[in-house]
Amino acid sequence: MTGKQVLILGGGVGGLVASNSVKKGLGGKGEVTLIERKMTFQFPPSYPWLMLGMRKPEQTEKSLSPLGRKGIKVVNDEVLSIDVSGKAVKSRNGEYPFDYLVIALGADYAPDSIPGFRENAHHIYSLESAIRFRDAIEKFPGGTIAMGVSRTPFKCPAAPYEAALLVEHHFREKGLGAKVKVRFFTPEGLPLPSAGPEIGNGVAELMKTRGIDAKFKVKLTEVRPNEALFEVGSTIPFDLLFAVPPHKCPQPVVDAGLTDQSGWVPVDPLTMKTQRSERVRNRGRHIGADTFRIRAIPPKGGSVRTSAGRSGFTQHRGRNQRQRSTEGL
Ligand SMILES: Cc1cc2nc3c(=O)[nH]c(=O)nc-3n(C[C@H](O)[C@H](O)[C@H](O)COP(=O)(O)OP(=O)(O)OC[C@H]3O[C@@H](n4cnc5c(N)ncnc54)[C@H](O)[C@@H]3O)c2cc1C
Repeated sequence: MTGKQVLILGGGVGGLVASNSVKKGLGGKGEVTLIERKMTFQFPPSYPWLMLGMRKPEQTEKSLSPLGRKGIKVVNDEVLSIDVSGKAVKSRNGEYPFDYLVIALGADYAPDSIPGFRENAHHIYSLESAIRFRDAIEKFPGGTIAMGVSRTPFKCPAAPYEAALLVEHHFREKGLGAKVKVRFFTPEGLPLPSAGPEIGNGVAELMKTRGIDAKFKVKLTEVRPNEALFEVGSTIPFDLLFAVPPHKCPQPVVDAGLTDQSGWVPVDPLTMKTQRSERVRNRGRHIGADTFRIRAIPPKGGSVRTSAGRSGFTQHRGRNQRQRSTEGL
């Protein structure tokens, strides 16, 4: 792929790994351009610590500009549209042609799909929200903290459980255990369904021993200032609410026609190649552009993103992709 243009959309966990892997693998042949709307790489796995003041915001993000020293061109811009057949991406300030495209835009959030969510719920699914939740916890005088999951799928199946256990521990350590009650809710049947029933039952048991009352298989339908309402007709009154926001596929990806009826992008799990580009090739109209999507369904953890970033690169190099791309999954 001498002189080929590799365009990577999104400078999060997947985009960062893909940029480094592709650049290193190309060895000077071809150009790698990364488009990211933020100035920094942010690291969400630190947000549970940040929400309790155990990390400062500046410890959870780093400038992307050092990538320039490796020869990766970093563009601080917002992706607006992807033209797969035309092999070009439009951003707010420009247009970028590509030979190979890696989509690593992560998941967007849809808080407005649940009435009252935006106004009344906290979460830690962005740096700004994690800071706001940290401030709310700092000021919390005591009462009920409702914590849970609004919709599946969502990033990091462990995060809301980790958050609930940390919050309970935090107040207990402060000597406020008797004044703070943590209640949990989720549409899942058990914690971390992807980890299997043994882990799920273990986490549910752990929550029980910490006095966290957990409700499973309940779907949040509305949030009022001090009350969460569920589809089954039950409610949880609260003084402070934390809920994983509903996730959705980023609009440029939807508009590009890469999603299916699930609302997400079907990909080959071994190579992360989009099925759309496969389909085009199978029909004999190979468009000369390969599209990789580093965010399979459901949105999983950063470790999976890392593996996905590498598997896209392995596919570019035509190596034993089956063996390489399952590493770490
Ligand atoms: C609280 C929390 C805790 C977690 N803990 C863990 C953990 O312990 N272990 C683990 O493995 N995983 C963990 N995860 C999950 C992990 O962070 C994600 O799976 C990972 O970040 C997803 O990587 P990504 O590259 O797909 O998306 P992201 O990291 O979200 O990156 C997407 C990037 O695309 C950019 N972008 C989006 N739209 C546009 C646009 N239109 N134009 C330009 N740029 C755009 C965004 O700004 C972002 O930088 C956690 C997640 C959270 C929220």
